[in-house]
Amino acid sequence: MTPGCRPLVLANWKMHKTASEAAAHASALLPRLGSPVDREVVLAPAFPALTAVGALLKGSTIQLAAQNLFWEDEGPYTGEVSGVMLQDAGVSYVLVAHSERRRYLEETDRVAGLKMRAALRCGLKPILCVGEDEAERAAGRAESVVRSQLVRGLESVAPGEASRVQVVYEPVLAIGTGHAATAAQAVEMHDLIRRELRVHFKNSAAGVRVLYGGSVTAHNVDELMNSAGVDGVLVGGASLKVAEFARIAAFRIAT
Ligand code: PEP
Repeated sequence: MTPGCRPLVLANWKMHKTASEAAAHASALLPRLGSPVDREVVLAPAFPALTAVGALLKGSTIQLAAQNLFWEDEGPYTGEVSGVMLQDAGVSYVLVAHSERRRYLEETDRVAGLKMRAALRCGLKPILCVGEDEAERAAGRAESVVRSQLVRGLESVAPGEASRVQVVYEPVLAIGTGHAATAAQAVEMHDLIRRELRVHFKNSAAGVRVLYGGSVTAHNVDELMNSAGVDGVLVGGASLKVAEFARIAAFRIAT
């Protein structure tokens, strides 16, 4: 973890759970999560469940995230949801360009940049997802891919906005596969991301949290969170299990 940073743990429920199922899951989770102040814990249900889950979070320190947004605030964009709508629904954080959206919906780096801008304009805290796929890694292009995802995703973000920005490194090979990156691989890529952030944001880069995502579990979270430059984790599959996610959120930092 970066010294002095407040770590962030985000549960990405993806396209799982109806509104009532999500509310039941949040109700089971909340007593186990408590109201932590030394770390931020954030739940990202699907759009239809945001209101129900948000209502349950009132009075706790657990926050609400959305999994996506559109880049315009209002207009004839059938099926899309704007940052203004998310803000009104009590959302604090929003994922931008998750690899599943890049893969299945052909979301590009240009779109990621537009969405980063929209999120910041609407008072949301965006989490830009970056990471190479298996073929890119095999071709020795992992670093250049991640660098260009960062450059394009952040091109319209000003240094003064850096403290509201998060980046999550998610190697595609590790997402939903049970094959997490080793802590050493995560450290290496987080270091590259941090260097790129310094080029873009200069001194303000220190305010950006860099998270890791990809098969995070109760078993590997402590090692990841004790790795240099890992300021939090994005948790997919394991966040659907109450006891497992509660343990992940309670990660321990060695003193
Ligand atoms: C994710 O949702 O981005 C993710 C990392 O999923 P999983 O934890 O299941 O690999």
